[in-house]
Amino acid sequence: MSPDPRSLAKRVSAETGLAFTGTEGRDSDGSRWLELRPAGHPPGQTFALRTVIGWRRIDVEFRPGNFAGELVEAMGRADESGRQTFRAVLAACRDAGADVALAVNGIATNPEDDAIWSAPWRSLDLTIRRGMLAINEGDADADMRQIELWTVRAAAAVLALLPLEIDSEESGEVAPDFAGLPEGTEARIDVNRYERDRRNRAAALAIHGYFCKACDLDMGERYGPAAAGLIEVHHVTQVSEVGPGYIIDPKSDLMPLCPNCHAVAHRRSPPFSVDELREMQRPS
Ligand SMILES: [Zn+2]
Ligand SMILES: [Zn+2]
Repeated sequence: MSPDPRSLAKRVSAETGLAFTGTEGRDSDGSRWLELRPAGHPPGQTFALRTVIGWRRIDVEFRPGNFAGELVEAMGRADESGRQTFRAVLAACRDAGADVALAVNGIATNPEDDAIWSAPWRSLDLTIRRGMLAINEGDADADMRQIELWTVRAAAAVLALLPLEIDSEESGEVAPDFAGLPEGTEARIDVNRYERDRRNRAAALAIHGYFCKACDLDMGERYGPAAAGLIEVHHVTQVSEVGPGYIIDPKSDLMPLCPNCHAVAHRRSPPFSVDELREMQRPS
């Protein structure tokens, strides 16, 4: 099975809480690309994430539509927690060996530079490039894992800045549908708390990786594609300890744990720490 835009869209939608549709095509040099767009909206007003599968490389590019000015400007006004998550996800991409090319208003810059937030954003260029990859070498499942990993990371960075509006009809129940970009000129995204949690989940996994922090298990590697992305996200900071207005930092407050370790963590209240879980384990 070659990388398929529909299954990529499904996976990124599930990870981020924003519904995407997928298409595919080829660059002039023959490189194949998969492209995701928020579902159900005029493409010009939103954006695409294009994942180019090159020779031993994957590039994921943020491509705003021709009429996405308001959305881009709103991204430049993201709150401090969104900015912090954006920086942390991009730093994790660099730590994982990628080059991050970022330009605001046409000027190449660095996500760590606070000056990027000082002027209104008229344009945003962002490409995450990971070279030196073993890809297109005949293992389609491994290829798809890499494509999903880098596309979800790019999506997590972009989503950190998207203007999220908490749905006023939020009932506290799990939402049946994905969040969507509303039509019209207002650049905002309606979500409920569940979707915001998923955005945090996507960011936490982009930052920490898809393996268990307590036992290093990667479910997708152990069980194959059926278990890809099967990892739980544990709140290190207990919800009961912090006030209702507390803004979760996906880097320090959330930790990926496999279902086993997560279950063991909650055998005590307050839960066992990741370090305690590591110490508990017996050599097998
Ligand atoms: Zn574990
Ligand atoms: Zn937990």
